[in-house]
Order: sequence, then C-alpha cells, then structure tokens
Amino acid sequence: MFGQMMDLPLLLSNQIEFAAKFHPSVEVVTRTVEGPIHRSNYEEIARRSKKLANALAKLGVKEGDRVATIAWNTHRHLELYFAVSGMGAVLHTINPRLPPDQLKYVVNHAEDQVMFFDTTFTKLAQFCAASDTPVKHYVAMTDDDHRPADFDAAKTYESLIADESDAFEWPQLDERAASSLCYTSGTTGEPKGVLYSHRSTVLHSYAVTMADTLAISAKDVTLPIVPMFHVNAWGVPYAAVMVGSKLVFPGPGMDGASLIELIESEGVTSLLGVPTVWLGLLAAARAANKRFDTVKTVTIGGSAVPPSMIEAFEKEHGARVIHAWGMTETSPLGTANVLLPKHASLSEADRRKIEIKQGRPIFGVDLRIVDDDAKVLPHDGETSGHLQIRGPWVASSYFKREADANHVDGWFYTGDIATIDPDGYMHITDRSKDVIKSGGEWVSSIGVENAAMRHPKVAQAAVIGVKHPKWQERPLLIVVKAPDQEVTQEELLAFLGEHLTKWWIPNAVEFVDALPLGATGKVLKRKLREQFADYVFAE
Ligand code: AMP
Repeated sequence: MFGQMMDLPLLLSNQIEFAAKFHPSVEVVTRTVEGPIHRSNYEEIARRSKKLANALAKLGVKEGDRVATIAWNTHRHLELYFAVSGMGAVLHTINPRLPPDQLKYVVNHAEDQVMFFDTTFTKLAQFCAASDTPVKHYVAMTDDDHRPADFDAAKTYESLIADESDAFEWPQLDERAASSLCYTSGTTGEPKGVLYSHRSTVLHSYAVTMADTLAISAKDVTLPIVPMFHVNAWGVPYAAVMVGSKLVFPGPGMDGASLIELIESEGVTSLLGVPTVWLGLLAAARAANKRFDTVKTVTIGGSAVPPSMIEAFEKEHGARVIHAWGMTETSPLGTANVLLPKHASLSEADRRKIEIKQGRPIFGVDLRIVDDDAKVLPHDGETSGHLQIRGPWVASSYFKREADANHVDGWFYTGDIATIDPDGYMHITDRSKDVIKSGGEWVSSIGVENAAMRHPKVAQAAVIGVKHPKWQERPLLIVVKAPDQEVTQEELLAFLGEHLTKWWIPNAVEFVDALPLGATGKVLKRKLREQFADYVFAE
C-alpha cells in the first residue's frame, strides 16, 4: 500500500522560487570582481536567474547540456546555480587552479557548451578558446564597461541578460535529473566527475541546515569562503537560499583585511572554509586587534582542524568551531562534530580530544570501516579501517565511467582510514589514496613523480605529503639518483618548475639509496610516510 502524499519532485528551481516568495528581501551581498560591494536580494536573484535562463535557451542550451563556470563566490555565480540547473541543464563548476592540461581535459570530458568566467580568469577562458574544446560561447561575468579588452569573442553577462524577459517557466524535471557537475582530483589518474542530481542537492540542503550539523538558518548571515567551484561551496548557497539566510560573498577578496571588513560590515554569524584560510584570517585579526563579535560558528573541513585553531576561535572570538568531514563525492557533508549532552561536564582538554575528530554521521548517510578483506570492523574508537560511506547524496559512480574500484557492494571507499567510536564519532587516522592536500587543493603525487622521472639523473621518484604549518600538507620528493649521477635539490626543483603548475612543485627533495618496495614492486608509500613522519621543511 502506498502512502497518499503528494509526489512533488525535489527541484532546485523550487528553492529559488520559495526564496523569492517567502524571503524576497533577504540580502545577497558581494564584493565584486570589479571592486565595489554589490547588494542584491533573493527576489532579484530569482528574477535575474530567469532572465539568464531565457538567455541560455537562446544560446541553444537544452536540458542535460553542460554549462561551465570559472568563477569566484558572487551573486552572478549564484544566479548561474539556479538558472542553469533550474532550466534542466548541468552547471559544471571548474576549479581555476587546475593545471592547464587538466582544465582542457575536464572541459572536453564534460562537453561544456557555454563557459562563464570572471575577468580574473580571462586567460583561462582564452586558453580554452584557443584549444580544441566543445565550448561554443564565452561569457565574461561582468558588464560592458569591464569587458576584457583582448577577448572579442566573449559576450558579457550583463549585456546577455539585459533585454531578456524575467518570466520563465521552470520545467518540472524528474528530481533525479542531473543538476551540477564537479570534478575531483582527490584520486589518482585523471580528474573524475561527480554528477549531482536535484534530489541529492535538495536533500543535502536539508542536511546542512540541521541543528546538529552546520545549522544554517534564517537567523544567520552566512559567509562561505569555501569556493563555489569546490563541491558547490559545501552546498551552503542552496541551503542559505532555502532557509533565507543572508548570504555574503567575498568574490576575489580572500585576503585577511578584505574578509575582516566584510565580516564586520555585514554582521556575519557563520563562516565556512578550509584550515589554511583561517590561519591567515586569525593572524590578520590579531594584527589588527579585531574580535569577531557577531560570528557564532566557524565550520572547518577539507583537512583536519588543529586543536589550536578551535581554541583560537573560542578564546579570541567567542566562536564555536564545527569540524566537518566530507568529499566531492559526498556533496560533501558526511559528518559534523557537535558535542553530546554527556560531554558538557568534560574538562577543556578532554573536550578537545573529541572536537578534533571529524564528527558523527548525519542522518541520510551511513558510515562503516572495513579491513583489507572488506570485513566490517567494530566501532570501538580503537580499530582503524577503510572508511566507507553510502547515502542519497553520495555518488553512485563517476560521470561517463562505468565501473571503478571505489564503488563496491553499494558502498563507496573514501580512501580515508579512520576509527569510529561507540558514539559514532569518526576520526581520520591516515589516507590510503596516494594524493596530497595542500591548502584545500589536491596535488597529484603521480603527476609530480612522472615529471621528476623525466629528469635523466633520476632513477626512481616518490612523492609524499608532509605536515606543513600553513598549507596542512606539502609535497616532499624522495629520489634515488641514477647510477653514477650527481644531481642537487636546486637542479631538480628548477627542472620541475618547467613542467609543473607552481603549487605542485615539492618544497624539498630528499635523496635515498633505495625506496621501500612491496611484493609487486610498488613503492610502499605508507612506509615512506612512516620514515619521514617527523620531517620538517627548512624555512
Ligand atoms: P575533496 O573531495 O577535495 O573535498 O576532498 C575530500 C577529502 O579531503 C577526504 O576524503 C579527506 O581525505 C579530506 N578531508 C576532508 N575533510 C577533512 C577533515 N575534516 N579532516 C581530515 N581530512 C579531511
């Protein structure tokens, strides 16, 4: 017997329509690429999203087509979120820090038809235009007064929508229809596309507004510093629109002084971003003798949160840190760290031991740990194993890839190694995937190793992540020299500088006589990480 409830699809167009109807005057404030602060509200965002949807339809964009963005967090990017997905097309948010070959790869793999770009990233759009890609239209996200001088083929966003009607009938899509696409390099090999659906995104929006997760509400002034090209800014823009939280976008102003000014002038209550951002912001606040009196919560994820950061926000700003864990493949929220009533009486030191864990799963996702033979391990807080996750906002496979080793028996192998305690707090203890996360972005170990191996005096090369005070992790290159050859760190780093994106270049090179090898001849990265566990980069 079926329930007798209305079967209305969960669609992103419903979120923006709801916002326009029930919290139309709630503000969306942006520090623009052009410079000034721009003020908008949900009624206007909804209206302009419809004008944009009409313009996209005229450009020939149809349901299922991919539309790319290379853009900061701004009101225009928010309009693209709703216009593109709302009309049934798929928003492909591109990370501007991708090395050129990966940028070209994702644009081709996604088969992007239109590319919207902030003028900061004009060179990247021009690179795509000069390369062999399927993009037919380029749109600079600005007005005609600020159009890039040397890119005649590009239209501007404001001229594109200026004469369009603000009446647009959002199609009643199947809620399982694709809404957005984000590539992740958090695995070895080429970037892989995660294709979100309307249903998964709306369910995830509910998840991030729950009181025991990120608790985003109408009472909040939310400033997502986490980029809109990184897992949809952790789904925060959708959630804020849904609940009517004022949204504040930093645009390109990611330096401490610009952020402090926005936090103060807009009365921000909720901040979200990766640890590297907070190191800079905390230092800038100390230097300027500022206290963030309005900020209540700071959500930190993407890398583990150091206890000193939790303490600094608590003591210097009276703000609560919410430590969260997730992945591009999980929309991203999987766990959030909120204390239970029984923790109220704990000493600060004991409380901290819990707070540095990645947190408890959120209803909707299920977590477990397994050993190398996929045997399920106990949640005793001691036994560590491969962390697996499943749920309606977890990717079931990658875009245009049939099978992959990470999806097994309905569970997704995260590549993280973790413990889970009896209360459900998950704690990451290691990583089985061979990648390095620097300042919230992935460095491909294999990419760096392949480049190093091209040097004639290198016999073997391995790259591991080593703890770094600012970037959480930085690459260390470990090299076995070719027989009877001499080569220096300087020589190798200069060589890599010619072949790699700047931030992929290792901070140091260590020379060894041999690399630890496993039975199949593969370098044992875990052994190397143990060997260099106490390594400290020279200043
Ligand atoms: P991404 O897909 O780029 O968001 O990266 C996801 C990966 O980042 C996870 O699988 C973890 O390895 C790492 N990660 C995310 N959040 C945390 C956290 N709170 N603590 C430690 N590692 C994290």
